[in-house]
Amino acid sequence: MTDLTDHIRACRLCAPRFAATATRHAPRPVPWFRPSARLLIAGQAPGLQVHEKGRPFDDRSGDRLRDWLGVDRDTFYDLDRIAVVPMAFCFPGYDATGSDLPPPPICAATWHDRVFATLPDLRLRVVIGAHAQRWHLGTRNSMTETVRAFRDHLPGTIPLPHPSWRNTGWLRKNPWFETDLLPVLREQVKEALDA
Ligand code: SF4
Repeated sequence: MTDLTDHIRACRLCAPRFAATATRHAPRPVPWFRPSARLLIAGQAPGLQVHEKGRPFDDRSGDRLRDWLGVDRDTFYDLDRIAVVPMAFCFPGYDATGSDLPPPPICAATWHDRVFATLPDLRLRVVIGAHAQRWHLGTRNSMTETVRAFRDHLPGTIPLPHPSWRNTGWLRKNPWFETDLLPVLREQVKEALDA
């Protein structure tokens, strides 16, 4: 297990790709999981702040996600209970519009099977954004269609939009997310962590 996280931390497969982005950054993988985890946060990829801090969702998106989940920071960062495994362990850089680039597919292809083989006790998967939803749910639907049909994936999985502040407009346009989905999410998270 320690070997696996050490191997991921040492991974530099995307170094040429990241060196060609505007930020010209080096890979800094942020693996965050232990075998005892009950809840999986399956996200997209670290943003720049997480790249700098080395801790997942330690930014405003994380504050919003914790509010959605109904957990405080201590609970969220309890490695024995919550695993954070994104579609890429490194910040991918920015595109020409200043948005985060998509996660390099080589990351999930290289690491995911090995990582998920070490997580036998997961009770709930929270699957964030279209990239993770394609991989974990095998869906080709849009993120909105997938999240709106969240009950189709219960029990055991709940799809979410990314908690980025860029999605504030989406949240306004889709009020059912707050009224219908969030109460179910918080109940499922509590059950998974208490199990
Ligand atoms: S994104 Fe994944 S595959 Fe690419 S360097 Fe980081 S850990 Fe390695």
